[in-house]
Amino acid sequence: MDLKGKRAVVTGSNSGIGLGVAEELARAGAEVILNSFTNREEDHALASGLSARFGVTVRYIQADLSKGEEARGLVEQAGGCDILVNNAGIQHVAAVEEFPVDQWNRILAINLSSAFHTIAVALPGMRARGWGRIVNIASAHGLTASPYKSAYVSAKHGVVGLTKTVGLETAGQGITCNAVCPGYVLTPLVEAQIPDQMKVHGMDRETVIREVMLQRQPSRQFATTEQLGGTVVWLCSDYAAQVTGTTISVDGGWTAL
Ligand code: NAD
Repeated sequence: MDLKGKRAVVTGSNSGIGLGVAEELARAGAEVILNSFTNREEDHALASGLSARFGVTVRYIQADLSKGEEARGLVEQAGGCDILVNNAGIQHVAAVEEFPVDQWNRILAINLSSAFHTIAVALPGMRARGWGRIVNIASAHGLTASPYKSAYVSAKHGVVGLTKTVGLETAGQGITCNAVCPGYVLTPLVEAQIPDQMKVHGMDRETVIREVMLQRQPSRQFATTEQLGGTVVWLCSDYAAQVTGTTISVDGGWTAL
């Protein structure tokens, strides 16, 4: 895949899936903008490391995507983009009647509204160039629900709705907009939960993964950040030029149940 000459903005990309997507886009030759809300030396070092590894320009831009103006500013500071991957996301688990209002608002802002803001700023440039790829990282929870995740499930279903709408508004213009819906992915965040789960359940690593964490994922295997990155690169390719306004599940069969 050759994405030379394309500039990609990946939100929430200093760890996990976002970083995996950024790596695969850089491997394919794209210029990449990494982002998170922090502004640490290691964030900028991550960018220079990727740049050295893949021989492409990689910049880190700080923006707190809970704020609409910073989400818009990210795309402006990048100088526009050809590829926009809305990946930043957070989670909070609580019963709906006890769900903290500030957490509800924060999840909706970061997981859903930030994509509205970045898309609104990125689209005019994509239209002018007659080419664009928007990929929203939703979730199996964009298609199904789980108890105690009302804000996350609502936001991810919203992302799928936004994806369909933008797919329609850009159809036939060289621009596609799709949502990738991962099941459980082995990110550092998920990896960090394994030792605790082993203690709580008195199980070994493999049993915790298979019986506790992946009980809803029929393959009983995690998806990897590389697989998510590869899916995004494919969506950026000419093979996927007629794939728009839809969802691609990378969930080991979760949503087939
Ligand atoms: P992660 O915590 O490793 O990554 C989240 C990223 O978002 C980080 O880079 C973080 O810094 C960034 N972020 C958080 N708040 C931000 C803010 N206010 N402004 C800017 N950036 C912010 O988690 P992950 O598992 O890699 O998740 C990435 C995306 O994939 C999320 O949207 C998540 O909902 C989705 N997802 C993950 C899984 C999974 O199993 N890991 C499954 C389905 C969907």
